[in-house]
Amino acid sequence: MNSGEFRRRGKEMVDFVADYLEGIERRQVYPDVEPGYLRPLIPTTAPEEPDTFEDILNDVEKIIMPGVTHWHSPYFFAYFPSANSYPALLADILCGAIGCIGFSWAASPACTELETVMMDWLGKMLKLPEAFLAGQGGEGGGVIQGSASEATLVALLAARTKVVRRLQAASPGLTQGAIMEKLVAYSSDQAHSSVERAGLIGGVKLKAIPSDGKFAMRASALQEALERDKAEGLIPFFVVATLGTTSCCSFDNLLEVGPICNKEDMWLHIDAAYAGSSFICPEFRHLLNGVEFADSFNFNPHKWMLVNFDCSAMWVKKRTDLIGAFKLDPLYLKHGHQDSGLITDYRHWQLPLGRRFRSLKMWFVFRMYGVKGLQAYIRKHVQLAHEFERLVHQDPRFEVCAEVTLGLVCFRLKGSNKLNEDLLERINKAKKIHLVPCHLRDKFVLRFAICARTVEFAHVQWAWEHIRQLATDLLRAEKD
Ligand SMILES: *Cc1c(COP(=O)(O)O)cnc(C)c1O
Repeated sequence: MNSGEFRRRGKEMVDFVADYLEGIERRQVYPDVEPGYLRPLIPTTAPEEPDTFEDILNDVEKIIMPGVTHWHSPYFFAYFPSANSYPALLADILCGAIGCIGFSWAASPACTELETVMMDWLGKMLKLPEAFLAGQGGEGGGVIQGSASEATLVALLAARTKVVRRLQAASPGLTQGAIMEKLVAYSSDQAHSSVERAGLIGGVKLKAIPSDGKFAMRASALQEALERDKAEGLIPFFVVATLGTTSCCSFDNLLEVGPICNKEDMWLHIDAAYAGSSFICPEFRHLLNGVEFADSFNFNPHKWMLVNFDCSAMWVKKRTDLIGAFKLDPLYLKHGHQDSGLITDYRHWQLPLGRRFRSLKMWFVFRMYGVKGLQAYIRKHVQLAHEFERLVHQDPRFEVCAEVTLGLVCFRLKGSNKLNEDLLERINKAKKIHLVPCHLRDKFVLRFAICARTVEFAHVQWAWEHIRQLATDLLRAEKD
């Protein structure tokens, strides 16, 4: 494909994408295929001779689309939203064209510098404490990670290095192994599974702190675990607080947990993967109060801020904590400049070496929506969630199972878990809408998450009527 053909095909591709997104509502949100559906539909090996672009595009509709779950359908209410906007799609084309691998400042100065400034812009949108911003000469700063899971792991590894160095400085005879086997990290029992995985990968114990009646981690439960573990000779070093848990969007009590972490010299990492985007609205910013106690903070613009995957924003108060933990400088990666403070080499802030020019997506989205446009988007989703909550309350057969703060409603039929499992099965078999469940304590609960950029009240209302009808059918079948 030469540039002439690229111009032509590129325009066709843009039309294809616009047609797809415009017409997505008419597609069945969840596919009909069975596992293994795709292999028989395509050749067993790559073609020796080139195929044509038309053939490929035709196959997208014939082979790919039947197996796609349409995450951007306004009838998709599963998981959490995955961001999608036209400015971000366009920025991704440019990112692909520049195609730099921005591991160091010198590898592509604009890639590094735009990222630093965008992370400051975003930090200011959230009103993060100054200490997290890079600014002109600050000690903090932001980095784009691929995912919240990576951010948690990076924070845990940095915290691990920090505590090992601190203890070895105090007692030079201590080996890393002797310290590591005593380290213990904490998160609430509502934390995302990626937190537990970070513990496994990082080779440290991770303990779940029982959450309270509102599914929040509180000081008393954390303090109790700490005292018990310290009495056993363990070394508490790391706490993950979640703002907006995946199951029910509950919030750990940062104002209680934060001071304990500071007092006990434990690294506090905040995982606000979903909820973080809402903090740009003044009326939701209080949910972030206590962030000043944290060492690192992370959320995913790729969930709820219209920046397509992948874009996970992570800030640290002391960038030397990250850089100190991961720094290696082989000669082929050295460049002429000294680390002057103005130069950031993001390879020291992350696990991989390579990185894409992801800040372009942020720059395009922030400029084309403006902060006001992004706030309006968040508010609309929250309002739709409250509308759905109101509808659920109107039907006495159902109950709402957790406080609705942002765009997620947890609900269920009053009755057994089996009944609710059957209802969910009917919903997802009908494939008109898509939902996923969660467990809250011993209850099987349905999650209704406002997801698509284009979802309107009419879709929410239709979805609710559909759920009610399936519930009626189910309850009738139960009686017979
Ligand atoms: C979605 C989610 C994650 C995982 O995010 P990734 O970016 O996919 O790793 C982690 N924590 C919470 C609270 C989440 O909601």
